[in-house]
Amino acid sequence: MLSGPFGVGKRTLAKLLTLCLLCDNGEDVSCGQCKACRRVISGSHPNRLWLGLMPNAKSVKIDQVRDMLAQLSQYPLESGRRVVILEDFDLFTMPAQNALLKAIEEPDEITVFILTATNEKAVLPTILSRCRLQRLPAWPDDLLESFLAGQGFSAQTARDLVPLSGGSPGTALRLSGDEDFWTLKSRADEALLGLVDTSRLPETSDQLKEFRQEASQLLDYLEAKAIASFDPSASAKSDPQDFYDASRKHRAMLESLFLARRQRASNVTWQGTADQLLLNILEENQPCLW
Ligand SMILES: [Zn+2]
Repeated sequence: MLSGPFGVGKRTLAKLLTLCLLCDNGEDVSCGQCKACRRVISGSHPNRLWLGLMPNAKSVKIDQVRDMLAQLSQYPLESGRRVVILEDFDLFTMPAQNALLKAIEEPDEITVFILTATNEKAVLPTILSRCRLQRLPAWPDDLLESFLAGQGFSAQTARDLVPLSGGSPGTALRLSGDEDFWTLKSRADEALLGLVDTSRLPETSDQLKEFRQEASQLLDYLEAKAIASFDPSASAKSDPQDFYDASRKHRAMLESLFLARRQRASNVTWQGTADQLLLNILEENQPCLW
């Protein structure tokens, strides 16, 4: 079982493992070029079976599992190994998971099951205990930045995306293509960039009013920005007083955002919440974030 957050590479790793298991070259590492590899890459290898969410479905049901088990009970179409990928196993219903217990516990000699899951807690303990668990961690910033550079993103775009992606290349790629996100980002930066003293408060307040429908996305963005703007490892390099000030502002910003979320949950108007947030930002002299 490969487990980890959204977009961290579980499906990609499952595909690489499948290549290694089905490649014809007889080595542990796949060649990527033989007929078997090419068919895995194109998704047409008969010994690679897949079960996961169908479009618009919210879970994988027991009937789908029964169909898969019926297929498995037959001889494979080709000689050699057979790989069964069970994707998003945490979204299989409990009866569906249960129905797979025996197959996963005692696979035949040629069959390898690869499961992926985002939320291990939604997987039956009896299944978990029968798997070799490999957790995929969030990517470190520098690795994610070079990955994005390799995908053709400019250095600036990569720097914008990394702190907002939670270490997930999949999230970074999704955000990169999300026009709403870039619009929100530039509107938020523009609104808050000018906030250096109270003279700009009414104008900024008006601009934030426009975010009513996207308030939670705005707070997410500000939080990611606040987290990214503070570098705990800078303590060794900088003046202790400067570091103390930066650390205090960082904490105050996160607390202001936390308060804003609480106010939203308790039905304070968005305008009231936004104005309070702006006052807190000014009071703690946090416009330096922008
Ligand atoms: Zn091959």
